[in-house]
Amino acid sequence: MKRKIRTYGDPVLRQRAQLVPEVTESLCRLADDLLETMYAARGLGLAAQQVGETCALCVVDVPAELDVEEEGGPRLNPDVIMPLTLFNPVIRHESPVKISCEEGCLSFPDVHVSIRRSAEVTVDYVDREGHAGELIAKGLLARAIQHELDHLGAVLLVDRMSPVKKISLSGQLKKLKKETLEELGA
Ligand SMILES: [Zn+2]
Repeated sequence: MKRKIRTYGDPVLRQRAQLVPEVTESLCRLADDLLETMYAARGLGLAAQQVGETCALCVVDVPAELDVEEEGGPRLNPDVIMPLTLFNPVIRHESPVKISCEEGCLSFPDVHVSIRRSAEVTVDYVDREGHAGELIAKGLLARAIQHELDHLGAVLLVDRMSPVKKISLSGQLKKLKKETLEELGA
């Protein structure tokens, strides 16, 4: 089922995710909802808070043509099977090499900001079957995973952008927050 995507200003985006004690059927259905919602919005990832839930769950799907260093180049993560459904994901290791790149977020429509993130991360997680897994992600996949883990920790794009960028976007952010709160009836 496609869900409504929560936008900036919605308090649920500022709630930290709770660890999932056990992967249940209903949590797998929630993962399916996240995927459906993400694909419909043409996103590369989505975290539970973005549909109003607060369990530690996110999904990521970087299409093969974007999983490259440069156009037409070899896949960066040929062994990672997408889409990824990650319960209780934790970054165990991140490379000291950081890369700045433009990033967007489905909870911030039309906002794109340059954010520095590690080029490679190692992530521990629990899969749909309840099994512990580990994956190494590079490039855009590493970026998408770091973005979704930020959501689970209640960290948003606004917290990562430079103060200068935040000032230049302040009107747009204020407007978005106001619209969100109006919609919530707050
Ligand atoms: Zn986001």
